Formats: sequence, structure tokens, C-alpha cells
Amino acid sequence: MSADDLTRPRVGVLAVQGAVSEHEAALADVGARTSRVRRSDELDGLDGLVIPGGESTTFGLVAGESGLLDAVRERIDAGMPVFGTCAGLIMLADGIAGGGPQPLVGGMDITVRRNAFGRQRASFEADVDVPALGDPPMRGIFIRAPWIEAAGPSVEVLAEHAGHIVAARDRTRIVCAFHPELTGDRRLHRMFVEGLRGGSAAADEEHKGGTRVGAQ
Ligand code: GLN
Repeated sequence: MSADDLTRPRVGVLAVQGAVSEHEAALADVGARTSRVRRSDELDGLDGLVIPGGESTTFGLVAGESGLLDAVRERIDAGMPVFGTCAGLIMLADGIAGGGPQPLVGGMDITVRRNAFGRQRASFEADVDVPALGDPPMRGIFIRAPWIEAAGPSVEVLAEHAGHIVAARDRTRIVCAFHPELTGDRRLHRMFVEGLRGGSAAADEEHKGGTRVGAQ
């Protein structure tokens, strides 16, 4: 390991299911070191965590039984930055609209609707304008995607599609309904990794007393 490696943020990718290697590639492209998280102790020493897409009920089941869900929740409560895509977004929501209860991590003051775009449009691609990232729009790959139905005052809307919130941020917590890891566009991964450069301790302070970002 070179000295340079020590200054690169270490990001875990929750490896229960989903596009794990694609997230690892995207994170490496924007200067992070990555490791896979399958057990609670693999969260030790991480500066941030990515929760990939997949099936949120499977996540809940597998990670719930192993205690990983509780461990991730504890870390996030303690200030660990997190980036959730698609099912990862669902896992980070404080609540689900419609449908039965399912195990979640929580941490973002959002209510999500699963498979929200309906059967006809179960999977589709669309240009998604993300004003915080400037031009051009991101190419959003939506796969049985959720949308964010309601967001609390601490949540900043990053993007909407067809009148629904599809990406949002609450300080160092970022979620999006589409799959940026499946395109070559690294801007959301870069936004996340750049937010880690201050380290988890700084993020921790921010989460305890910090400035809240107003709703848009
Ligand atoms: N439909 C899935 C769910 O409800 C999410 C799909 C995805 O992650 N691509 O959990």
C-alpha cells in the first residue's frame, strides 16, 4: 500500500446481493478504497457505506437474521455516511407507503413507495436532471424502482422524474432510485466520496448538532 492509499476514504459495499462489483468499480474510479461488507465486524474502520440495489425484502431478511441490519443502523446513527441506490434507498427510508411492514435500516426522513413506476414501466431509462451536478443530466436506469413520496425538512431533493423525487440528500446520506453504478457517470459516487474526505468524526459532529439543509 502506498502512502497515498492511506488518504483515500475506505468505503464498504454491502454485499448481501445486487450490483456490488459495479459499485466497487465506480467508487474506485472516484478515488475510494473499497471492501465488501457481509458481517457486522466488516463495518469496522469504514468511512462510508454503499447499499446497492436488489430486493429490499431479501436484504431485510438476510441482513436482519445475521444482525447486520442492526449493526448498520447503529453506525448510521453514529454518523457513518451512506449512499443507497434503489433497494438501498428503500432500506434507508424511515417509512414505506402502502404494502406491509418490512425490516428497514432507516436514517433518512423519507417515505418511499416500492415499485412505484408501475408494471408498464417496470424498467426504463430516462435523462434525469440533477441540478446540484450541473449539465448534462444523468442517464437514469430505473429497474422496478421506488420513488420518494414524502421527505422531511432535513432532506434536500436532488432530482425528480415525472413529478416524483428520485434522488435526495440529508447531509452525508445520499439516496437515488435509479442505478448510477450501471452507467459510466460517476458524479453521484464522487459527490458521496467527496463528502467523506472530512472523515466520519466530522460527519458525526455534523449529524449531532449540525446545520440542517432546507427542503426544496
Ligand atoms: N423493487 C425492488 C424493491 O422493492 C428494488 C429494485 C432495485 O433495487 N432495482 O426492493
